[in-house]
Amino acid sequence: MGRLVMKFGGTSVANIDRIRNVARHVKREVDAGHDVAVVVSAMAGKTNELVDWCRDASPMHDAREYDAVVASGEQVTSGLLAIALQGMGIQARSWQGWQIPIKTSDAHASARILEIDGTEISARFKDRKEVAVIAGFQGINPQTNRITTLGRGGSDTSAVAIAAAIRADRCDIYTDVDGVYTTDPRVVPKARRLDKIAFEDMLELASLGAKVLQVRSVELGMVHNMPVFVRSSFDKPEDIDPHGTPPGTLICSEEEIMESHVVTGIAFSKDEAQISLRQIEDKPGVAAAIFGPLADANINVDMIVQNVSEDGKTTDLTFTVPASDYNRARDTITNSKAKIGYIRLDSATDVSKVSVIGSGMRSHAGVAAKAFKALSERNINIRAITTSEIKFSVLIDAAYTELAVRTLHTLYGLDQT
Ligand code: ASP
Ligand code: MG
Repeated sequence: MGRLVMKFGGTSVANIDRIRNVARHVKREVDAGHDVAVVVSAMAGKTNELVDWCRDASPMHDAREYDAVVASGEQVTSGLLAIALQGMGIQARSWQGWQIPIKTSDAHASARILEIDGTEISARFKDRKEVAVIAGFQGINPQTNRITTLGRGGSDTSAVAIAAAIRADRCDIYTDVDGVYTTDPRVVPKARRLDKIAFEDMLELASLGAKVLQVRSVELGMVHNMPVFVRSSFDKPEDIDPHGTPPGTLICSEEEIMESHVVTGIAFSKDEAQISLRQIEDKPGVAAAIFGPLADANINVDMIVQNVSEDGKTTDLTFTVPASDYNRARDTITNSKAKIGYIRLDSATDVSKVSVIGSGMRSHAGVAAKAFKALSERNINIRAITTSEIKFSVLIDAAYTELAVRTLHTLYGLDQT
């Protein structure tokens, strides 16, 4: 007998029929003798609607009230799933973040989990064989006693944190895809589902654009060494052998992965914007004058490239920011123009970042060089490059995203055969 967390995303609980389907998945695990805590998202589209309502009510709204509103989506689905389970004769009880409690920081709309008390839930497994149905995405700040939320996609993080708190054997994430792929299968039909992926690689994939899991949930899995299994909620519950190995991807520690490739996967993101400052005087303090104000404005700068200007005397500096911060970043820089002392500001929003990820890169040289050659053969111009130990990224014209991803997927032997 084991202990499981089962997390279901918005499409899996989009209506009462699907909630009933979820209940059958839960019943299967309960019947197999497991202790089960379920974490649910809001019904698909619900959180977006709630966010829009807040904006409609007032564009500059209080973040505490935003959280009070958007946390309600998960309150509904947790209650409904408990009802559906009870209807099948299974002991079940819903839990809101504040009831457990899931204690978080006071950073409303992007709070971080500080502590979860799993005692009551564990006691009820033992005494009553009761399934806990927990509202994902939400918590409570212990100082203010106000409801908080964990940022969009946060119920993944709720699930992994709860799994750690109740010392579950595994955290199953049921979603609308049947696992983690080498890249987005909608772009590369030959993308392969990975049986296993290391936390580190998954962390990069998620941070660099793969939308399967909230980044923070992967971090938590890594910190607590909690195996996370991504699997489909659309498989018929009755068709699944609870003792067999269902299709899906296990995110686990590197040591558990026997066969490993140099490159694990390719991610891409079109939500990038590029800003280039031309003809800056090449002297100490310039970078600080540029990036200091951006940091103060809470704008995340990603890639940075510095090169000699056309005149051969001054320097050009190019960097990227999330597309959503582009206007603010531009204004911030323009406001500091006198201090920075650049001659011209060029920018582009039709750019995208393509990233190649693999912890195997640590022990292999020349992995990136191969990509640069392959991209040039396709006439794809690289605007900027960044590298780290287990990944590299290139910034290119957005129009070439698909071609670049496909080219690299084939180049590194990731295509399905
Ligand atoms: N319902 C929340 C959202 O849409 C949390 C989640 O689904 O993970 O962001
Ligand atoms: Mg999600």
